[in-house]
Amino acid sequence: MSDKYNPYNNFLSVLKRAAQAVGLHENDYAALCYPERELKVSVPVRMDNGSVRIFEGYRVQHSTSRGPAKGGIRFHPDVNIDEVKALAAWMSLKCAVVNIPYGGAKGGVCVDPSTLSAAERERLTRRYTAMILPIIGPEKDIPAPDVGTNAQVMDWIMDTYSMMNGYTIHGVVTGKDPEVGGSVGRTEATGRGVMIVTLEVLRQTGQDPKKVTVAVQGMGNVGCTAAVLLHEKGCRIVAVSDVSGGLRCESGLDIPAIAAYVKKGGLLKDYDAPDVHHISNDELLTGACDILIPAALENQITASVAERLQAKLIIEAANGPTTVEADAVLEKRGIPVFPDILANAGGVVVSYFEWVQNLQELTWEEKDVNDTLKRVMVRAFNEVMEKSKKFSVNYRLAAYAVAVERICTAKKKRGIFP
Ligand code: NAD
Repeated sequence: MSDKYNPYNNFLSVLKRAAQAVGLHENDYAALCYPERELKVSVPVRMDNGSVRIFEGYRVQHSTSRGPAKGGIRFHPDVNIDEVKALAAWMSLKCAVVNIPYGGAKGGVCVDPSTLSAAERERLTRRYTAMILPIIGPEKDIPAPDVGTNAQVMDWIMDTYSMMNGYTIHGVVTGKDPEVGGSVGRTEATGRGVMIVTLEVLRQTGQDPKKVTVAVQGMGNVGCTAAVLLHEKGCRIVAVSDVSGGLRCESGLDIPAIAAYVKKGGLLKDYDAPDVHHISNDELLTGACDILIPAALENQITASVAERLQAKLIIEAANGPTTVEADAVLEKRGIPVFPDILANAGGVVVSYFEWVQNLQELTWEEKDVNDTLKRVMVRAFNEVMEKSKKFSVNYRLAAYAVAVERICTAKKKRGIFP
């Protein structure tokens, strides 16, 4: 990976600019430049054909200043230590932006889960869990789903951790199925948070959701939910894509039909419907629309894409979808970016609700989950807007500034041990 696309360098570069913008001294945020703990594991898995494969895995805890570490687990062939470090750092900031009492962590296994059978995926998950077990736990570090993992994987993590401790411990992981301690509304929470932020932007800029067009990159958990919910609010979703390619329809795509298709495992390159034409992911990112929602992976909006894209604003549903160079181009072009650590925080907010329910051994109604999520997201949105105005900085720097100030205050109050 070139330094330019190293997501940890992206994090460090924005951190420095945000700290300078709000006048923080280097000493105040120096510790945030380094993850507190990095664990690398080699995970042996017996494959269905009897052979043994070794997969590289990681768990990184970036900060625990504000509470237990919190962050997802990714199964993807591009997982590497710098990516996991960046994702862990963004989790620290994200939890601080929405002001929930967590630090940040992330884990990952370098694997293409689509090439594994369900039994192999289960064995990989259980062995990986056993190998990171010393550093996770409901009071220490609480994983959750990310790219390539889902509620079933979380259920296996909970079961493995529980079996190794001799009793059921729901709170070790969030994003589980509701039958085994998961919260209603968690699976949709990240996409719902993206919808809440998008509608708040439209409301505060006096725009009617029924008059805007939207393009969504990535039709996984986050992108698909965001597309479905925005479609329900009347937005015209003109383009969507997945790893195989994209679809475009000027009069608006039939999002419920496409959502049902991808949920059954269909690839968009094979999707067919009247007036729908196939486009590349580059065409998805640069095509005409009012709002662009990247909801796939890092580094999708490069400087070249930023020069050409036609969207009027960007809502980052993915983590780190915009490179530092692209950010500069977008700022010059006057295209606002509502950053990942704010826009996709809905998932960790409802993860927090799930953990609270687990610790208290009670369950919330879906309405309570969704209403409380909305309150938390809108409050965080307004705090970022105020910071942006106060320091005349873009929304990304403002969100970082809100977060870094909160983490640094916690660090200062706790002091340095010993
Ligand atoms: P997912 O695995 O459910 O879906 C990923 C989607 O992206 C799939 O549709 C895949 O086909 C598509 N994709 C992959 N590579 C692509 C490419 N090069 N171009 C276009 N599409 C591509 O993952 P997810 O959980 O939806 O996560 C998506 C993003 O949201 C990630 O950046 C993740 O870190 C972030 N995120 C997820 C959550 C969560 O709760 N799941 C929370 C916060 C942030």
